[in-house]
Amino acid sequence: MRIVMKFGGSSLASADLIKHCASIVKQHAENNEIVVVCSASGDTTDDLLALVETARRGRGEEVERRLSTLEQKHLNLLDAVTDDRIREETSETLKQWLRELRRATLGILYLREATPRSTDYVVSFGERFSTLVMAAALNSYGLKAQYLDGGEAGIVTDSNFGGATPLIEVTRLNVRRRIGRMLDEGVTPTVTGFIATNEEGVTTTLGRGGSDYTATILASSLPADEVWLWSDVDGLMTANPKLIADAVVIKKLSYNEAIEMALFGAKGLHPRALEPVMAAQIPVKIKNTFNPSAEGTLISESTEKTDKPVKAVLLVNDTAMLTVRGPSMVGEPGTAAKILETLYRAGVNVMMISQSISESSISLVIKRSALNKAVTALEKALLGTRIVAAVEPEEDIVVIAVVGEGMKGTPGVASRVFGAVASKGINVKMIAQGSSELNISFAVKESDGIEAVKAIHSEYQLGKT
Ligand code: ASP
Ligand code: MG
Repeated sequence: MRIVMKFGGSSLASADLIKHCASIVKQHAENNEIVVVCSASGDTTDDLLALVETARRGRGEEVERRLSTLEQKHLNLLDAVTDDRIREETSETLKQWLRELRRATLGILYLREATPRSTDYVVSFGERFSTLVMAAALNSYGLKAQYLDGGEAGIVTDSNFGGATPLIEVTRLNVRRRIGRMLDEGVTPTVTGFIATNEEGVTTTLGRGGSDYTATILASSLPADEVWLWSDVDGLMTANPKLIADAVVIKKLSYNEAIEMALFGAKGLHPRALEPVMAAQIPVKIKNTFNPSAEGTLISESTEKTDKPVKAVLLVNDTAMLTVRGPSMVGEPGTAAKILETLYRAGVNVMMISQSISESSISLVIKRSALNKAVTALEKALLGTRIVAAVEPEEDIVVIAVVGEGMKGTPGVASRVFGAVASKGINVKMIAQGSSELNISFAVKESDGIEAVKAIHSEYQLGKT
């Protein structure tokens, strides 16, 4: 089989862990062609973003401290994972890149200005370093690993720095040619996650958590038979195990269910990562480097056949609700458009919308951090008009999302879900269900959130039995 294996940051956080991941690759490379994709080691991406911020504020001493911590950390990692021959070859490259990182950071420090483009450049070193170290570890284990950054692997994006979109057709051609050839020659391509280049060869990034996306882009381009996303959890779970003690790993999910869960912030998935593999019907496994023999979660076309229409219950924190009311909104075309347009112009992302058939109010859920901005924008834009009478914010709201493909066309899911919630005396503030019927989302008071998740989780007996 041809497998793209991506290793997350927490699986690469120390020299021992990197060696462990290299041994996993080695073991599977005996009978398969493996493409390796690496995230930055541990919290390096956060550290690099903090470095940029420190430089932008002109704090020279702190910049120096942060740079030397990053330098030392990666020199030590390389030192600890390689044999002498490979260490010598690689450490020159690593030192060269550390100098480049230093120069870029000092540029930001002197100008006191960081653009999205320069930030991407600085942040990209996290994946460069970790992937170089991983390639060295693989070579020390006797594989023929070849380091490639995302651009060298063939991933070309637009110039939307900080969250670039791949130009998929040209990417496919490039990847197939470059990575395909290496696999034919028995080489193990070892590719930086998260980073790519635009058409001019300038470094871009795919957005936080983008290494998953790198893996699925490569897999769909080659094509590969499977993608394995190695992280520090056994798989996607029926609920957050920190909140629900008996939550269990979901063995099998459809792409649509997994996308739905990713959108609601389930751990370990970039929201767009499943797009390329879904089109190509390549299965994705979520696996745990700390428990490699566990089966993990399999994401593919088909979902697990169970008698349970509901697969998972998710709690989305840090949200707020906004209700816009006004008797004159009834039958007035364009009200919703005006509200959404105003929020769009203010840069506020709307997560959930609902309007009752009476049309006298519209409720929206947004990120809590955007509440002030949203209310200000709506007051300025709408309260003067005769249409809207009030903009009512509610700050202490959480959203519960109930996900499962089997909900489609199964009557009575809503009544069971809300029956379970009502039996705990919890008041539901707002409800939305997309016509895909893949999820029901509703808002409750923050203090009721965990209790509501518990009620639904046990109503559908999703936990250990
Ligand atoms: N290192 C990047 C991040 O932390 C990308 C990734 O981990 O997937 O967001
Ligand atoms: Mg990471």
